[in-house]
Amino acid sequence: MSVGWLRACALVMLGLFSVSALAKDKTAIVIGGGVAGLTAAYELQNKGWQVTLLEAKPSLGGRSGMATSEWIGNDKTQPVLNKYVSTFKLSTTPAPEFVRTPGYLIDGVYYTAADLTTKEPATAEALKRYEKTLDDLARSIEDPQNPSANSTLHALDQINVSNWLDRLSLPPTARQLVNQQIRTRYDEPSRLSLLYFAQQSRVYRGVADRDLRASRLVGGSPVLAQAFVKQLKTIKTSSPVSSITQDKDGVTVKVGSVGYQADYVVLAVPLRALNKIQMTPALDAQHLAAIKGTNYGWRDQIMLKFKTPVWESKARMSGEIYSNTGLGMLWVEPALKGGANVVINLSGDNARVMQAFGDKQIADQVLIRLHAFYPQARGSFTGYEIRRYSNDPSMGGAYLAFGPGQISKYWRLWERPIQRVAFAGEHTDTLYPGTLEGALRTGQRAASQVEDLAAGKSFEPAKAVPVAAAAAAGAVAAKKGNFFSNLFGGSDDDKKPEPVKAPEPVAPPTPAPAPAPVAAPAPVEAPKPAAPVKAEPAKKAPAKTPVKKPVAKAEVKKAPAKAPAKKTEVAKKPAAATETKAQ
Ligand SMILES: Cc1cc2nc3c(=O)[nH]c(=O)nc-3n(C[C@H](O)[C@H](O)[C@H](O)COP(=O)(O)OP(=O)(O)OC[C@H]3O[C@@H](n4cnc5c(N)ncnc54)[C@H](O)[C@@H]3O)c2cc1C
Repeated sequence: MSVGWLRACALVMLGLFSVSALAKDKTAIVIGGGVAGLTAAYELQNKGWQVTLLEAKPSLGGRSGMATSEWIGNDKTQPVLNKYVSTFKLSTTPAPEFVRTPGYLIDGVYYTAADLTTKEPATAEALKRYEKTLDDLARSIEDPQNPSANSTLHALDQINVSNWLDRLSLPPTARQLVNQQIRTRYDEPSRLSLLYFAQQSRVYRGVADRDLRASRLVGGSPVLAQAFVKQLKTIKTSSPVSSITQDKDGVTVKVGSVGYQADYVVLAVPLRALNKIQMTPALDAQHLAAIKGTNYGWRDQIMLKFKTPVWESKARMSGEIYSNTGLGMLWVEPALKGGANVVINLSGDNARVMQAFGDKQIADQVLIRLHAFYPQARGSFTGYEIRRYSNDPSMGGAYLAFGPGQISKYWRLWERPIQRVAFAGEHTDTLYPGTLEGALRTGQRAASQVEDLAAGKSFEPAKAVPVAAAAAAGAVAAKKGNFFSNLFGGSDDDKKPEPVKAPEPVAPPTPAPAPAPVAAPAPVEAPKPAAPVKAEPAKKAPAKTPVKKPVAKAEVKKAPAKAPAKKTEVAKKPAAATETKAQ
């Protein structure tokens, strides 16, 4: 056998092999480089998919990239997050004791929960009554994945949290503190579905605050995004997707005039951003209504910097502190940015009111209020940083917070893929929306759905439990205490359990105030732009093809398995305010 013949055979075999390998290549495009999109891309790539991640902004990490020092839960409370922390060998630092439980700032005076009991017993007592009533309500939900399991629970979705709080008749200070806590964690009580609030309380029932704020990633949560980025082979930043077209052969995604094609797409952008992406075929009326109508909590963060602490001592202003004065939630961050920093969260309607103001005006307003309590504040003030998540059009709010009636309409809507598109993002998680854990979970879920789709599985619409039928069997909901006594306080665990009654007329639900009109987005302080994505050399770049011509497969840079080549800059650590979503 001649050498030439052998070589020819080898070439033919190699050729065949590579053709068959190409034929088997499964391609996916992930849209959105927040932690949900990054997770989906990472998981798909690990399963042998060629993945291209498209991110609108110059940097990656999305909302997680803006905060720098969220506290994270332990592996009992946030198992998925902790799994990635250990996979990527990220360092953490344990949370000091003072951040593990909330504190209160009442008319400028700081109280721990213990102080409150002795010094402000009426307020402490009222807070306890509120917590007990909320816990009873949470207990009424048997399965947090199916919160409106019966008509009684379903009725809670029509009520807003503010109505429910009114019925508790809390003394004014306690009510202000409760309002502040709810608007920081979710949104303004008047804009929040009572069922959603109860469902979330059910999810976190029995979970100690200290387990939810157990440690911090060294370098803040951007290091998590960076760890994913390091693993991914093909990322294109500054690539806002404008349309997605599906047909029987695949999906075409457009960024400006550039088209990318793949077998499947994971769409991991918040709902307001989804509203700007044209889908063909169009989404149905329910999805379109959800995109426009689903409520997002508002929460903006301002870091005020001082030469030295203007408050009495660092220890007395550290941690998660709810103020009754409209300053929002305070957070002291002595370790970052030098000097002494206090982060103030403007949440709910406090943030909405401020949308008309420029950044500096907001900082001034907050400083004026702080100065009222701490007269050295003005003299010691050196500057500020501000993060306005709420009027950033690619986010449209801080995180999902279902408003009245919205669970009934949109529950688990985004869990089901539509043809070749699977959805991810914190807003698509049933249990942990508004958290890193939730976003990570949905990235995993979407990746496995894409695998299922490729394997020929179809996803049927989620079957909602018929409310009337469930109501008949629904006496399960409140095992202890009468349901409406649980709802408005006064249940007694020692009493014989009563069946759930048909819903009585509750205080007529006050419609949530219409969202304040969103002004044209003010320029958000953005990380420094990276170099624009450049066209790849011709032979390597089938990706950048005008969409009208036959669209090429999304370009994937192949890299050796051990040292995946990075095609983008690592998410920059933004000079961001620091804070955590308390849970
Ligand atoms: C103030 C604040 C505090 C928080 N604190 C905590 C906390 O302490 N603990 C915790 O666990 N969670 C916290 N969270 C929540 C957590 O940060 C988010 O749940 C999580 O980061 C959301 O990730 P995501 O991937 O779903 O969405 P995002 O991070 O919003 O990612 C979506 C990405 O899609 C991109 N995009 C949008 N449109 C397009 C388009 N057309 N084309 C391409 N890309 C597009 C966006 O630029 C963005 O990068 C907090 C959030 C906020 C706002």
